[in-house]
Amino acid sequence: MHTTDSSPSTQTNNSTQVNNHTQKIITSLTALLDYLSFPAHIQKQLNSQIASQFPLRVPIAYARKIKKNDLNDPLLKQVLPTHAEQSTHPDYVLDPLAETQANACEGLIHKYQSRVLLTATSACAIHCRYCFRQHYDYQGNQLTAQNWQHIANYISSQPAINEVILSGGDPLSLSNRRLFDLLENIEALPQIRTIRLHSRHAVAMVARLDNALIQRLVDSRCHIVLVTHANHPNEIGTAETTRFQEIRQTSITLLNQSVLLKGVNDHAETLAALSHALFDAGIMPYYLHLLDKVAGAAHFNMPQQTAIQIYKKLLAILPGYLVPKLVHEQANQPNKTLVSF
Ligand SMILES: *Cc1c(COP(=O)(O)O)cnc(C)c1O
Ligand code: SF4
Repeated sequence: MHTTDSSPSTQTNNSTQVNNHTQKIITSLTALLDYLSFPAHIQKQLNSQIASQFPLRVPIAYARKIKKNDLNDPLLKQVLPTHAEQSTHPDYVLDPLAETQANACEGLIHKYQSRVLLTATSACAIHCRYCFRQHYDYQGNQLTAQNWQHIANYISSQPAINEVILSGGDPLSLSNRRLFDLLENIEALPQIRTIRLHSRHAVAMVARLDNALIQRLVDSRCHIVLVTHANHPNEIGTAETTRFQEIRQTSITLLNQSVLLKGVNDHAETLAALSHALFDAGIMPYYLHLLDKVAGAAHFNMPQQTAIQIYKKLLAILPGYLVPKLVHEQANQPNKTLVSF
């Protein structure tokens, strides 16, 4: 039995796909385990695990950074479906951030006064097992030409909004053509000063950040902020560092947010190495999030007290400017909440 039987993308015998950036993407457990040279007995054991609703998806560019035949690899842990996802816990829910309530109109979430978040697409380069939007109703929240007018009207009716955040899914899953159309629409709203893109492509498939995209972002009349989502220093290899050093020469502001994940980055030394790897690539640490309590992700959670101990150690290791803010997201708050200690 494969853990990805429910996925339309695994209905064929072909377990890797090629996307429009000619990057191979692994979509079956067998293909991933083969790629990582796991011996037959481990493959058999993992293959017998319960089917997941959330299909496996790992670009080769990411798989390359995973150590072969090591179940404890911190990058593998972020993408490998396990039976732990099936266990239920009363605190772990489908919509932990109550985003459904903040849906001002289809495709737009307005939770914080000055900025709105657009769920630009449901597609992602990579499927992260801890994802808090893995159960999100993207079907009812597609950004289409039809609902853009509603979104534009809504933004115009709220003069406090000055920033549009493109999220998803992953906004860089859109083609350049569609993304540029969207940027043009946003730039036509005079009140918008900043466009922010949150994307895991930087670490999952850095080739997506092609020259045409970067040039278009540089040409925007708005400030452009690109927020990468790296959780572990091994996600930032030579290819990523080289590309981001180039992007850093432009007017684009580069930030990173991470999620504190048990078994992935739950040591101060790891987080310090991440901050340094980011800094080498020209990216400044922004947020370190406590896990959002989404159904199926309880096994990644770090208790808040442990998180605080790690964070205090991190503060002692790093210069202040390389320490991300430790935050958690609480439903119905006017901003992300700083973890206090
Ligand atoms: C996190 C988030 C933002 C951005 O918050 P910042 O603190 O500005 O990074 C905006 N809207 C929503 C719905 C969010 O979840
Ligand atoms: S890239 Fe982001 S939205 Fe997509 S699965 Fe990963 S955490 Fe979720």
